[in-house]
Amino acid sequence: MSATDHITIDSLTGGIYRPVFDTHAHYLDEEFDACRETLIETLRASSVVHVMEAACDLSDVQKIVRLCEDYPGFFFGAAGIHPHNADSYSEHSLESLRSSFAANRSLRAVGEIGLDYHYDFSPRETQKACFDAQLSLAGDLDLPVIIHDREAHGDCLDLLKAHRSRLSGVMHCFSGSYETARECLDLGLYLGIGGSLTFRNAKKLVEIVPKLPLDRIVLETDCPYMAPEPFRGRINDSRYIQLVLKRVSELRHESEDFLASVFLGNSLSLFRM
Ligand SMILES: [Zn+2]
Repeated sequence: MSATDHITIDSLTGGIYRPVFDTHAHYLDEEFDACRETLIETLRASSVVHVMEAACDLSDVQKIVRLCEDYPGFFFGAAGIHPHNADSYSEHSLESLRSSFAANRSLRAVGEIGLDYHYDFSPRETQKACFDAQLSLAGDLDLPVIIHDREAHGDCLDLLKAHRSRLSGVMHCFSGSYETARECLDLGLYLGIGGSLTFRNAKKLVEIVPKLPLDRIVLETDCPYMAPEPFRGRINDSRYIQLVLKRVSELRHESEDFLASVFLGNSLSLFRM
């Protein structure tokens, strides 16, 4: 048993939960199989206003639509092919995505899509082709994108710039330099800030967050991953965003109430609600 095992999110927040929009989550992950329904009720009772459930693959899309139907107005969905699964991309899969968006109003974004040169699970050229095609799709459908960029900032920005005339969306789990942040902001993107802001090695992000324009920040969990400190390594959920909010408040010297209301408004604008 570690020293933090007895600490709970309720004890850290004192039971005060500000309204939040979790702009990036994976509640369909098998980590939640044993507790999903109970957990979702707990979230709703803890001021989680909306959740954007992000797809990793085409096989997720119908499950996400069902989740949104089960919790109307609470869950919204993103549909897309994650760079890890770029191998599965084809003309046919793109058409399937297009018809899913046409048939389901709960699908509000194309995501998560992008490049991952950390794991390189798919060849880089395939990742780029898959990302490029989905950026075009988002442009055609006039939808925001949720971008996954891991150790691929240069190629990622090149592709985003090529689509800039029709681009809107969010850099999920932003991890770049201040210069990269500026380039993303110049493209009109939002930056998604999550649990990694609280990590002990979050030096770069800690320096960047106070310099960002407030109207470009949204919060996210990426749950079940990326639990903030002191829960790092455990299963994350949308209540833990409160700890990210608290960290942003400390870094920017702005109140949690004020920031929560700004970030909620930003998230609604991002997904055009
Ligand atoms: Zn994700």
